[in-house]
Amino acid sequence: MIYNFPIDDKRKGTCLKILDRAGIDYELIEHDAAVIRVLGQINTKTRRELESLSQAAGKLTLKRSAEKSCYSEFTDSTRLPVIAGPCAVESEAQIAAIAEFLSGLGVRYLRGGAYKPRTSSESFQGMGRPGLKLLHKYAQAQSMYLVTEVMDRSQIEIVTEYADILQVGSRNMFNYTLLTALGSVRKPVLLKRGMAATIDEWLCSAEYISKGGNDQLILCERGIRTFEPQTSHTLDLASICLAKQHSGLPVIADTSHASGRPDLVTPLAAAAVAAGADGIMVELHPDPSKALSDGKQALTFDQFEELLARVTRIHAAIL
Ligand code: PEP
Ligand code: MN
Repeated sequence: MIYNFPIDDKRKGTCLKILDRAGIDYELIEHDAAVIRVLGQINTKTRRELESLSQAAGKLTLKRSAEKSCYSEFTDSTRLPVIAGPCAVESEAQIAAIAEFLSGLGVRYLRGGAYKPRTSSESFQGMGRPGLKLLHKYAQAQSMYLVTEVMDRSQIEIVTEYADILQVGSRNMFNYTLLTALGSVRKPVLLKRGMAATIDEWLCSAEYISKGGNDQLILCERGIRTFEPQTSHTLDLASICLAKQHSGLPVIADTSHASGRPDLVTPLAAAAVAAGADGIMVELHPDPSKALSDGKQALTFDQFEELLARVTRIHAAIL
């Protein structure tokens, strides 16, 4: 059970007193707002007391207009949002070249990981804080929004400082303490589907964030594990349609991680947009053979231009 107290310290204090009095354990997470995650059982009396506080607080939720604008632009259905960039930021020259190239094509969302969830502990783990600073610098320079991953609760503060959209990766879709904490942030969250998660599990994870008071959510289908060895994952087109139907949230497709191979990134993106995806996420690199992570699936600049032209045509046809 999650209670959201966005602006009201008094109400938050009262809620904690009720829980303390009832001997119930809880976690308090405070970023832009406070979210209380209740642990253990609550009797009916305590539940009623808390619910009356929670409902009143819900009505008072304030949204800061400046921070809402990124989400408003993202959800403007007359434009197809394309999130593009390297798997990981690697150097100033790399991210400068990519941001300049993308901005020249009118792409509004720059992606890149500074904290990387790598399968092997021996692989490049990202540049961390210096990487975030570089991403921010070049997103700002090109007037682009920055999308980057937050892997852990301890990173929320720093990532929120630099990012416009916080990405939760496939491996963290089931990290309920991270999701709960992101409910206290007033920036959009892009929630990737776990690679072995059902659609219902994915939507339940989204609720952990929205119940904390953050309704600026974007869902991202990034392929699921199947028995097929020729692709890294299998893009689940039906999930895009069903997640949209059931949640009413924007659902985008990451066709780089869904396929793991550059020759499939564009056709799958075209199929996703034709199926109703509300945006696309892809990885590119100035020289994929030198990339420190996911080089084998990265598009070259030329390949990305082809993708953009194709998905733009399909989106226009749908409109
Ligand atoms: C990524 O976007 O770089 C990434 C690691 O994706 P996923 O969490 O979908 O594997
Ligand atoms: Mn990647």
